[in-house]
Amino acid sequence: MNKSEQYFIEAEKYLPGGVNSPVRAFKSVGLDPVFIDHAHGAYVYDVDGNQYIDYICSWGPLILGHSPKIFTEDIQEVVAKGTSYGLPTEIEVEMAKLVVESYPGIDQVRMVNSGTEATMSALRLARGYTGRNKFIKFEGCYHGHSDSLLIKSGSGALTYGVPTSPGVPQEVIADTLVARFNDIDSVRASFAEQGNDIAAIIVEPVAANMGVIEPADNFLQALRDVCDEYGALLIFDEVITGFRLGYHSAAGFYGVTPDMVCFGKIIGGGLPVGAYGGRREIMKVVSPEGPVYQAGTLSGNPLAMYMGKQQLTVLRDHPEIYTFINQQAEKLAAGMRQNIQSLGLNLTVHQVGSLVCLFFNEGPICDYDDVMKSDNTHFKDYFAAMLEQGIMIAPAPFESMFISAKHDDELIEKTIQANYNALKKAFNK
Ligand code: PLP
Repeated sequence: MNKSEQYFIEAEKYLPGGVNSPVRAFKSVGLDPVFIDHAHGAYVYDVDGNQYIDYICSWGPLILGHSPKIFTEDIQEVVAKGTSYGLPTEIEVEMAKLVVESYPGIDQVRMVNSGTEATMSALRLARGYTGRNKFIKFEGCYHGHSDSLLIKSGSGALTYGVPTSPGVPQEVIADTLVARFNDIDSVRASFAEQGNDIAAIIVEPVAANMGVIEPADNFLQALRDVCDEYGALLIFDEVITGFRLGYHSAAGFYGVTPDMVCFGKIIGGGLPVGAYGGRREIMKVVSPEGPVYQAGTLSGNPLAMYMGKQQLTVLRDHPEIYTFINQQAEKLAAGMRQNIQSLGLNLTVHQVGSLVCLFFNEGPICDYDDVMKSDNTHFKDYFAAMLEQGIMIAPAPFESMFISAKHDDELIEKTIQANYNALKKAFNK
């Protein structure tokens, strides 16, 4: 028995399912999870000494790869000054300034501790600001696990077949309206019926929790227009796309400005951080200035702010990083498509910026219904074969591959070759 297996037996005694977040249990690939010892650059290393090229990258935030020098060089000094005060610090202001200056149309942000907290709080604020209760989310989009958003969700919830969770009372979700991603008519239909009661639309500008699906031409602008028409707020959940699609996030990438934005892990360089922001007139409704209550003991934590500031500063000052990661993603996607073609398979590869995803079905794939047509029986074998060759992809079929600045040509080439071998094996070709 290897060390990962031993640790997992112990973990199952003390943690539900042996993990602190469901997808880590490797259940949907029928394997025991790999326990990680450490990571560096584009690699993660498990407790048994195996090295993997990492495409999880902590589920997105590590654009610069694992433990870059700018995270580690002065961290001792930061820790030595204290790890949490529960009182204001200068670095919170510096971080907020960085985020606000990067994002089109927002004046202020409130730091929180996770993406879930960001979306939950943004929604409360949108409701408080508009005085309306209903909101629209999209099938297959994931916005964290707060009650009113955990409906027809993507990501782990989709993998485990519980896109709507038990334990969420019916009355809590009575005001959650669900529309189809990339289908503006489904959105307009809800507005036509109850437009004056709808506080907001919340959307992942690129759906990245049911595979990776780009918004159709004009879809985001059409959401903007319908919100304007009915006085509802448009909320972009940029937990995945923020600072990844570019320094100005999806709003800059697609040229559509929302009323509010949510960020997550990415603005903490992998530490537990989130934030929500908006125009001044909206944000002044948040406590203590306004009546919408929201608070957090560890919000704006100095270590997390330090990591976030380091990462965002590098990304701001080095736009060539985006050129590089997008280009590496394009190379990877092109290689994977070539493999699919030469093996005569009917699979689809999507790539948006530095996000890459392999679907186990034919395209076009534009929404949740298309994603559900994917035949994931081959995913298990594909995943196992990738892992055997030292490639760590997400242990679930509906997730993205995240490319970092450390995924150089050699690693991309190795991954393309491994993808060929794994597909060949999984499909008995
Ligand atoms: N929103 C999106 C788009 C996400 O992808 C996630 C998590 O991956 C969340 C919200 C929730 O973030 P967290 O896991 O930090 O609570």
